[in-house]
Amino acid sequence: MKPPVFDYLAPASLDEALKILSELGERAKVLAGGQSLVALLNFRLVRPEHLVDLNGLPELAGIREDDGHVVIGAMTRQRAVEQAALVRARVPLLSEAMPQIGHVQIRNRGTVGGSLAHADPAGELPAVVAALGGELVLRSARGRRVLKAEQFFVGYLTTALEPDELLVEVRLPATPPRTGSAFVEVSRRHGDFALVGVGATVTLDEAGVCTASAIALTGVGPAPVLARDAARALVGARPTAKAMEDAGARVAGAIEPDSDLHASSDFRKHLAVVLTRRALAQATERATGGTGTHTKGTSR
Ligand SMILES: Cc1cc2nc3c(=O)[nH]c(=O)nc-3n(C[C@H](O)[C@H](O)[C@H](O)COP(=O)(O)OP(=O)(O)OC[C@H]3O[C@@H](n4cnc5c(N)ncnc54)[C@H](O)[C@@H]3O)c2cc1C
Repeated sequence: MKPPVFDYLAPASLDEALKILSELGERAKVLAGGQSLVALLNFRLVRPEHLVDLNGLPELAGIREDDGHVVIGAMTRQRAVEQAALVRARVPLLSEAMPQIGHVQIRNRGTVGGSLAHADPAGELPAVVAALGGELVLRSARGRRVLKAEQFFVGYLTTALEPDELLVEVRLPATPPRTGSAFVEVSRRHGDFALVGVGATVTLDEAGVCTASAIALTGVGPAPVLARDAARALVGARPTAKAMEDAGARVAGAIEPDSDLHASSDFRKHLAVVLTRRALAQATERATGGTGTHTKGTSR
């Protein structure tokens, strides 16, 4: 099908884009990489009167370091993040998750902001931002606000973004020393959305005792799930195989995934347990400077 008729607007600055959105509100949709929105338009699942193209706003693209954070502009292409040495060095969890998003052609156009704003329940980026305790920076003509993942991701394809707001950047804390991370997922075919994905971090002290951990899952609920209890239970002891198994069991107790065409709820739960164990094992190995590399998940 072809998209419904809309007015095309191409603002030349962020201020102009925000002004347009403040005037048009719900009658407008912004276009980033178009990898999700164009399909929604063609299926006529969304029918905006106006399409506001963000592709003429270079000020929204780029990756920089700021005050212990890696800051990624909303219009930064997913492929640029995947290839960025700064991201690999400072937030390896993100680096590892990127190649697991769709196919390279999609990542060439798809943006970080578009993926986060689209909020697909099986998307990798929402889980990475949740696991890292990242912040999402929103702007409108009314001002600026900064939200954590738990505040931003409201439900299935739904975020806290107001119709006149833009996601302008995401701020990710640089990974501390003696911290390992891993992002692993299972999908039916290469390039498909994950059935379940798990991002985990583990920080160890000199004695190998876990001082901090985070576990976030995708594909097991309407929004990314931050498994706080499971992560907290790892702190204060060495992350042994038994501790990782317990963490998997805690994760299973905290989620109630839906069944759908692709997988039953029970199978998703099973994957969540197995992938939590795997992610924690890899993260722990990496925290100790082991042989693990940050190149690819194990599940594809
Ligand atoms: C075949 C295929 C496979 C895919 N596989 C995966 C996968 O495995 N994992 C995954 O995570 N994704 C996957 N995707 C989705 C892909 O990552 C998209 O790039 C992403 O979801 C949307 O990014 P975009 O830049 O293309 O945004 P668009 O499609 O342009 O926009 C998406 C939505 O976000 C809104 N939006 C965009 N930018 C902003 C902003 N800055 N502020 C406010 N709202 C904004 C738009 O109005 C729209 O509602 C896949 C897509 C395809 C086509």
